[in-house]
Amino acid sequence: MDTSLAYALDCDARDSLAHFRNEFCVPQHAGKDQVYLVGNSLGLQPKRAALRVEHEMRRWRELGVAGHFRGEPAWVHAHAEQREAMAELVGALPHEVTLMNTLTVNLHHLLISFYRPTPERYKIVIEKHAFPSDRYAVVSHLKMCGFDAEDGLVELEDEGELGHLSVATFEQFMATQGDQVALVLLPGIQYVSGAALDVDAMTSIAQRAGATVGQDHAHAVGNVPLDLHAGNCDFAVWCTYKYLNGGPGSIGGAFVHERHHHADLPRLQGWFGNALASRFEMAHDFDPEVGTDAWIMSNPSILSLVTVNASLSLFAEAGFAALRQKSVALTGYLAELIQAQLADQIQILTPLDPDKRGCQLSLRVKAGRAAGRHLFETLESQGIVGDWREPDVIRMAPTPLYNRFADAWHLVEAIRQAAP
Ligand SMILES: *Cc1c(COP(=O)(O)O)cnc(C)c1O
Repeated sequence: MDTSLAYALDCDARDSLAHFRNEFCVPQHAGKDQVYLVGNSLGLQPKRAALRVEHEMRRWRELGVAGHFRGEPAWVHAHAEQREAMAELVGALPHEVTLMNTLTVNLHHLLISFYRPTPERYKIVIEKHAFPSDRYAVVSHLKMCGFDAEDGLVELEDEGELGHLSVATFEQFMATQGDQVALVLLPGIQYVSGAALDVDAMTSIAQRAGATVGQDHAHAVGNVPLDLHAGNCDFAVWCTYKYLNGGPGSIGGAFVHERHHHADLPRLQGWFGNALASRFEMAHDFDPEVGTDAWIMSNPSILSLVTVNASLSLFAEAGFAALRQKSVALTGYLAELIQAQLADQIQILTPLDPDKRGCQLSLRVKAGRAAGRHLFETLESQGIVGDWREPDVIRMAPTPLYNRFADAWHLVEAIRQAAP
């Protein structure tokens, strides 16, 4: 392969999405743009986000309470304004998707509805290296329902493969113990390894065994194509501050499959889940809104909704198919550079097959944890920003909206220069 900087610059020059980088604020290092490869943790700020926030601040200044019902959009409709764009990104019907709360809160909220154990069927299956918040959440529901977490929580992983769970491993477990499983919680993309799980296959295996399935798409949304409706999981949650660039703590997303919309499920209710038509009648009894909106409890943060909207408008302009195409090429280029020039030093933990990953590559320094940590800090001191995940993983995520092929080249060149 051509490992020259000239080749990387040529790829950028031919990239039809390259101009989207100008829509973002890139943090600086020593007077130059950082090589920011950590959009999997916090996406960069779209320049238009500040304009949208200022617009709402002005509406609040000028309209006061009237802003709830006046202007574009009136605040009562602000979450619904995003619905179509969000539903398209996750492959859902619009009424299956809503924006509310944040990820872990939504997970708890939907577990109230969907974790319904019996004395015989009460176990919860997650993957072994699940994001800690997901584990804490399901353990708290086991405990609240009176089960022992030691017995009730099952953590699965392919043997010796950090952050990988294959259909075969999952299927084998469900074949023998599936009749005890009440709920399975799966990530679309595993956050340590960057591997995509075959969640559709696992969902249908779990449902055939009689279990309910939730999915966590924190690392998948805005990164890989999703098809939640056809994939048929019962519910899903995601955040908007990683690949969706909504800003720190921005409002979360939730999906409830439409087949549950009229089911008699237990649910924590609040006034914002009441149908808009009767919400302000302040009626005595709850009259649920259509679809997943019935799960909304409180009126959402408008400032957070508009920063998400700013970013979603960029996704719509670029087109997700084009973004994914660039992402496959960009991360593929980074993987090839590493294999061509750093194979003796660096192991790539993420599958190389583009269908089995998103944009993130998880790297392990072969010389061990101390050498890995040292390399990570050296890169950081040069303005090349990824992140570190224990025990010894460096995550680097070139995102197609604002990263360049030259960013990948600079990362690999810096690792080469840092070699002892
Ligand atoms: C980022 C992330 C979270 C964080 O959740 P918040 O409640 O939004 O802080 C939870 N789960 C997974 C899998 C994540 O990647």
